[in-house]
Amino acid sequence: MGTGSGWFVFENSYAEALPELCTPWSAASAPAPRWLVLNEPLAAQLGLDPGRIGSDEGLAVLVGNRVPEGATPVALAYSGHQFGGYSPRLGDGRALLVGEIVGPDGARRDLHLKGSGRTPFARGGDGKAAVGPMLREYVISEAMYALGIPTTRSLAVTATGERVARESPLPGAVLARVAASHIRVGTFQYAAATSGPELVGRLVAHAIERHHPEAAAAPVPALALLEAVCTAQAQLIARWMAVGFIHGVMNTDNMTISGETIDYGPCAFMDRYDPATVFSSIDHGGRYAFGNQPAIGQWNLARLAETLLPLLDADTDRAVEAATGVLTAYGTSYDRAWLDAMRAKLGLRTALDSDRGLIERLLSELQSRQLDYTSAFRALADLLVGRDRPERSLPLDAPDLSAWIAEWQIRLSADGRDAATVAAAMDAVNPVYIPRNHAVEAALAAATNESDLRPLHRLLAGLAAPFTERPGFDDLATPAPLGPVPYRTFCGT
Ligand code: AMP
Ligand code: MG
Repeated sequence: MGTGSGWFVFENSYAEALPELCTPWSAASAPAPRWLVLNEPLAAQLGLDPGRIGSDEGLAVLVGNRVPEGATPVALAYSGHQFGGYSPRLGDGRALLVGEIVGPDGARRDLHLKGSGRTPFARGGDGKAAVGPMLREYVISEAMYALGIPTTRSLAVTATGERVARESPLPGAVLARVAASHIRVGTFQYAAATSGPELVGRLVAHAIERHHPEAAAAPVPALALLEAVCTAQAQLIARWMAVGFIHGVMNTDNMTISGETIDYGPCAFMDRYDPATVFSSIDHGGRYAFGNQPAIGQWNLARLAETLLPLLDADTDRAVEAATGVLTAYGTSYDRAWLDAMRAKLGLRTALDSDRGLIERLLSELQSRQLDYTSAFRALADLLVGRDRPERSLPLDAPDLSAWIAEWQIRLSADGRDAATVAAAMDAVNPVYIPRNHAVEAALAAATNESDLRPLHRLLAGLAAPFTERPGFDDLATPAPLGPVPYRTFCGT
């Protein structure tokens, strides 16, 4: 069964297989629901009838006021290491899994509501979400999707008509999120801590079937799952690094088993290249700084590996050895994926050992000259084909940089492609538009304070085709001027 009827037909494979890891729960009712944004292309991918999802009935479902027939919403349980400290019980404090949809493409996806009221996992929280942070998740997740980076997606943001108490009262909203699943490293931690190998084994089987089916036939499926997750995360984080994305809160509860980016809170794109860049107001030690992300990925995966040890080998030493081998291979996979991505950004088709040095020297030039990371790669392609784009031109009078460019051009000639072909290949992987912090903030402020959604829609239109330069989106192509205080982001509350 699926969405063949043009409407939701929910399945509950997760809740049925793993009832210990969720609690049936209902959303709070929203007093005056209103559409803020509906993702029609995504609705179509899910097989939803456009008229019906865009109707009052669709609004009622996506704000949490109406449970579609056949759905059994649940709050998901998980633990997590937050900034390195273990919290045994996190879970969906303000969110619900409505159910799973099998779309016309055959893919199973979760529909999840965030900001839908307190659950048994709410701890001290109010269970609610404000318009700004939910629109922020919508914007950035859809930008990531358009960049071709694995991510959860956003089907809609609906206003609840209620005020939520933050530093000052803010309009409330619910995000309808679509994900391959919501199984996290923290889900395994919760299963291991609250139960043990039998429950972890069932979670392994479910995760394999859903995300990494090839692991089922392996001699030790749990080890093959660990390997598959390590590879997926290595590839994902390499993609983040290639576009300058900073997740900002890489806690183990915010790392998926599917390999999708999840939980867009304090995330942001880096402008001027600096591996130490941190935007999150609560990341005082820079644990989740741009340049730390690959290593934090491995740290989180080690927490996943710990939960799997009893399933890897009856002998603990041998289990640890097997897990360590896989975690070490993460480093190699990451490195390969990152080099591949950076070679593509520089228009290189072949691989030479000297490429790493070439890439690193460029990055250190960008850093020492405080150059914008995103536009630098477009500017390099401009040079190849003589495109005149003064707004992003590189300081070619800088001797180190001009020497680097000469070296890069020699390297390109070894690749044997003409300049136009190389530039086109570079433009296909180097975005011209990213969610620039100033543009995102301006769009969210207009939506929140003036109920003006036009800047949001313009922003979404620009970000939907990030590689294609066109008039009207210049602010998404350049960083804001450096201000007196660095840009700061806050957790999605
Ligand atoms: P996050 O930082 O969004 O990954 O959330 C971390 C944990 O805090 C999760 O268990 C969330 O469900 C919970 N949480 C965040 N905000 C709220 C809130 N307003 N009410 C209840 N729980 C929340
Ligand atoms: Mg989270």
